[in-house]
Amino acid sequence: MSNGKPQYDPQAIEAGRQEAWEGRGDFAAPQLRDGRERVYVKPSSPFTSGNLHMGHVRDYSIGDSYARFRRGRGDSVLFGFGFDAFGLPAELAAIERQVPPAEWVEECGERMLGQMKRLGFSFDYDRVFYSSDEAQYRWSQWLFLTLLEHDLIYRADTTVDWCDTCQTTLASIQVEDGRCWRCHNEVRLIRRPTWFLRITPYLEENDRNTELLAESGKWDELSLATQRYILGCSDGVELTLEGDGRSLTVFTPHRKFAGLASFVLLSPRHPEVDAWLSDPVAREELEKMRSGGWERSARDARSVPLVDTGNSIAGPGGERLPVVVSPLVDARYGPTAALGIPAIDGADRDLAERLDRVEVPDAPEAEPEDEGPAPAPVDGAREATRYRANDFSISRQRAWGCPIPIVLCDECGPVPVPEADLPVVLPRDLQPTGEGNPLAERADFAEVECPKCGGAAKRETDTLDCHFDALWLWVPAAVPPEDRAEQMFTHPELREWLPSERLVAGNDSGGFVFDQRVVSKALRDIGPFEFMGEGEPFAGCLFHEMVIADGRKMSKHLGNVVNPDELVSQHGADTVRVAVLYAAGPAKTLNWSDGAVRFASRFLRGLWIYTHDRLASLEGLEHDAEAAADTEHMRDRLRKWCENGLEKITEDTEQLQMHKSIRNITRLFERIQDFEKRVIKRRGRLDRADAEAQIAALVLLVRTLVPFAPHVAEELLLAAGVEANSEALESWPESADIPVSPSASAAP
Ligand SMILES: [Zn+2]
Ligand SMILES: [Zn+2]
Repeated sequence: MSNGKPQYDPQAIEAGRQEAWEGRGDFAAPQLRDGRERVYVKPSSPFTSGNLHMGHVRDYSIGDSYARFRRGRGDSVLFGFGFDAFGLPAELAAIERQVPPAEWVEECGERMLGQMKRLGFSFDYDRVFYSSDEAQYRWSQWLFLTLLEHDLIYRADTTVDWCDTCQTTLASIQVEDGRCWRCHNEVRLIRRPTWFLRITPYLEENDRNTELLAESGKWDELSLATQRYILGCSDGVELTLEGDGRSLTVFTPHRKFAGLASFVLLSPRHPEVDAWLSDPVAREELEKMRSGGWERSARDARSVPLVDTGNSIAGPGGERLPVVVSPLVDARYGPTAALGIPAIDGADRDLAERLDRVEVPDAPEAEPEDEGPAPAPVDGAREATRYRANDFSISRQRAWGCPIPIVLCDECGPVPVPEADLPVVLPRDLQPTGEGNPLAERADFAEVECPKCGGAAKRETDTLDCHFDALWLWVPAAVPPEDRAEQMFTHPELREWLPSERLVAGNDSGGFVFDQRVVSKALRDIGPFEFMGEGEPFAGCLFHEMVIADGRKMSKHLGNVVNPDELVSQHGADTVRVAVLYAAGPAKTLNWSDGAVRFASRFLRGLWIYTHDRLASLEGLEHDAEAAADTEHMRDRLRKWCENGLEKITEDTEQLQMHKSIRNITRLFERIQDFEKRVIKRRGRLDRADAEAQIAALVLLVRTLVPFAPHVAEELLLAAGVEANSEALESWPESADIPVSPSASAAP
């Protein structure tokens, strides 16, 4: 220490505060108390990759500030999370390092928890869980059996997306622009028996509720947009075409133009598609389309696969409409049948140009609107809605996943494992090699008796996709760890914490959230979550954009990866947190630059020195009634600045717009400095009344900083004489109590 003043040493300050928090157990989910609002803040569940990246830092800095803010306002706050620990990333890392995935996951989790603690994130660390723990995945298996029993899971021999590189099937959510989410190689379609999650019964309710959530004001635009996009709702009409002893229900979004249809388009996943293909050549082409001939990237109507069945059906006006098959239907309306209307639909027009049997009409001069002049609606047309979202596969041919509690018996078919026999344990010493499925080769795992007939049978050796584990990852943190074995879905505290008040997650979580919203409704209807009337797991939701550097996605390849550990050891956790929060609003991509760190560092250091200086000089100041009266109007103005500032910062933080909160905190700091300059300009020096008002203003400002830069803020509060307990240090100011009149501050 130089000049006898405490230096700003973030490493020492932060270590001290973190020790105090841990010692007091400040962040343990509180005992539920009457009269307090219960707020469950749900951050994203990270993969056990072994390293926090800047996206995590952004996510948890927003969530942590919000959790601390709500605690400061006197709410009961649960801020808990678990690791999404099964799945391909962990398996591939384990293959690379030649260690069992279980070992790798544990090592990674420990390391990431250390990073989180170092950043000062106020999770209830006692509630942390791993989806790959037996005690945890026992409940994934329970969920599987429960949904199976209620017909929301089924096994179908059907086309699935397949990645040749990863040797696994993929859920549609894992296919991005026709490429594998993991390895980015192109994906193709193959046929194999696969387990599916049936989400279609809940699409309509998700659709309706999305509008309710929008009205609540607690879902931000980004998160609502993902929900609408994934649903892919099209409103229109459907009609049933008949002829030759068969019928086909077809959909079109072009209500008034159904009569102009030139052909019928069938999805290759349409349940009746096989019946329409009598020609062996066409059948072969469909098979090729299903089994890999179709590259997913060919989504465009000019290049998308197209098979003419050679058959036709009578259209609305009695004309013969050729029936053709193309996955373009899926991409637009889901696995249905649609009318092709090239006269008014651009994509249909592109298809028509590739069909010999269809005459391409003249292009309309302008895109006709459904409202404009048009032929009368077709007889028999009914209002209808189609959703692009569809059931998806949940099983994969990988070793590092939750075993599917099913026994495959030659006599009985697939037989559920009795609940009493759960969990079906994944061998801990499993060492995947990267090829095939090592589970199938383990006799100790695969060979069992059939639970039904007692005969020799084989376990299902596909495992559940980690997307399935994620369906309920919002539940465990709300249950005390000691009760999870018995009461994971029935614990009384679930009623107190659910739905989660706010989910904070990256904007790539839309698919997870959509499917979680489906499963919560299923569990409501089945019984355990009956108390959740709307069936919505998240009352509020904030999605944030990603963190990039130099205008590009961070990647090792580009050498632009920003390492949070290095930043923290160089600048301290508070600076990193403030920089990440300040640099961009959540809806904007954060293009990382040193500028944000420099700004945050300068601000925190400046505030530290300034506040300590003012506290030190208060001692020698005297009170003079005349001088104090002369500057009373200035103190009054300071009070108003504080009032306005507090109001704005509170509002911004309530809305999770932390970049605005921090901007307004720095502005208030400027005003407080300005106050001093003005008083000195007028009187030459501060009266004790001025100094006390200024210190009260500084304390107020520092209190608003607690959620964002908790270490330095609490240390400053302690220096200003605030009591050393969490209640006193964390409490969010309700009003700006700045002493204005000289009498109020006359006493030393
Ligand atoms: Zn892949
Ligand atoms: Zn059997």
